[in-house]
Amino acid sequence: MSAAGAAPDKKPIKPKPFGPIPAGFPMVDGKVHIAGKPVADHIDEIGQTPAFLYDAALLDRKVAELRAAMPQRLAIHYAMKANPYGPLLRHMTGLCDGIDLASGGELQIALAAGASPENMSFAGPAKTDAELKAAISAGVTINLESEGEAKRAIIIGDTLGITPRLAVRVNPDFDLRGSGMRMGGGAKAFGVDQERVPDLVRQIIDAGAHWRGFHIYAGSQSLDSAALAETQANTIALAARLAEDIGHAPEHINLGGGFGIPYFSGDQPVNLSVISAELQRQFTNLPEILADCDFAIELGRYLVGEAGIYVTRIIDRKISHGEVFLACDGGLHHQLAASGNFGTVVRRNYPVSLAQAGNGPEEIVNIVGCLCTPLDRLGDRVSLKRAETGDLVIIYCAGAYGASASPVNFLGHGAAKEILLYETNLQ
Ligand SMILES: *Cc1c(COP(=O)(O)O)cnc(C)c1O
Repeated sequence: MSAAGAAPDKKPIKPKPFGPIPAGFPMVDGKVHIAGKPVADHIDEIGQTPAFLYDAALLDRKVAELRAAMPQRLAIHYAMKANPYGPLLRHMTGLCDGIDLASGGELQIALAAGASPENMSFAGPAKTDAELKAAISAGVTINLESEGEAKRAIIIGDTLGITPRLAVRVNPDFDLRGSGMRMGGGAKAFGVDQERVPDLVRQIIDAGAHWRGFHIYAGSQSLDSAALAETQANTIALAARLAEDIGHAPEHINLGGGFGIPYFSGDQPVNLSVISAELQRQFTNLPEILADCDFAIELGRYLVGEAGIYVTRIIDRKISHGEVFLACDGGLHHQLAASGNFGTVVRRNYPVSLAQAGNGPEEIVNIVGCLCTPLDRLGDRVSLKRAETGDLVIIYCAGAYGASASPVNFLGHGAAKEILLYETNLQ
């Protein structure tokens, strides 16, 4: 039992680290800027928090960097599930060579954004007949997840009088892990087990459908450049073996993606030159059967994740058991991933800052959202300049799996505003 009042023997609270703040958000006169203006000015114009602000110039830069680094032969597709916000998707459609989608709803959004169906591919389990019909009618390539889906797609094509464009998603005997390749295969909801792929492709060809090639997706959010390079090499080798077995050359191979971004303290960005060097080596030494093949990668998070921020306003500042709590108008209903509840085992802090740092001392604060659940924590014991009610908090790396991947109806606070910003009158 401690004495009433002060607790002199209480251990001082130690700050927990947060992830690296991505490039592109300069601090000018103590204010964080995006797209050439202080974040707070954008928020004043929007007239609303919480808000997701996406910077079009950062999207441009990211795609340009990737193109410059990778072999020219490699097409870059945007996996729209990372961020399907209309203006951003339209922008990405202009930057990328294709759009990868994963539902009939995404198909409608992509068509509305002006993406061309010949450059779209549609993956995902449990595609309904209605979804297949819409995709085949539009001329989208379907990445088949099973033999049953292949049958239905062929029947739907016959009924419509349209030759369906069909690729087979392969469930490979390896996945994207550390540097070692884990063999042995695994039971998955995605793709057709590799040993059954040749038979399926022969059936597709015999049925008169347009066989496009393979889709081989081995994993996501990896920062291990060597593992990414090795996975791409394995993928090309597997595609070649399958093609030899089938006896036909594929037109197109989707090599998957999986490039991650640094979210947490200690994370290092992907080293593109490592991946590019290996891929160039692969392209230079392609097996004969893949000589004329087109190659693509599909990336979501890597292309858009760092180009967006989530801005929320401090509504209340309180002390509990000696710790400061900044209670904000946003929360996990918009930014589930930053709260640590979207596919993470241990909760760690996303990069965070105040929109405007004051001159006060640093203090250790808990940044919590407005939801009545202890899960709603955007920053756990982070050290920031002293902040007051009304100040703005920025959560970085909010461009992917934010607004569209969070339970917005939970507790009824409503959606965040989203906006794509174009740089104005700089210089
Ligand atoms: C989710 C997904 C992607 C995008 O993953 P990122 O980690 O955002 O790059 C790409 N392809 C497929 C098949 C996916 O399911």
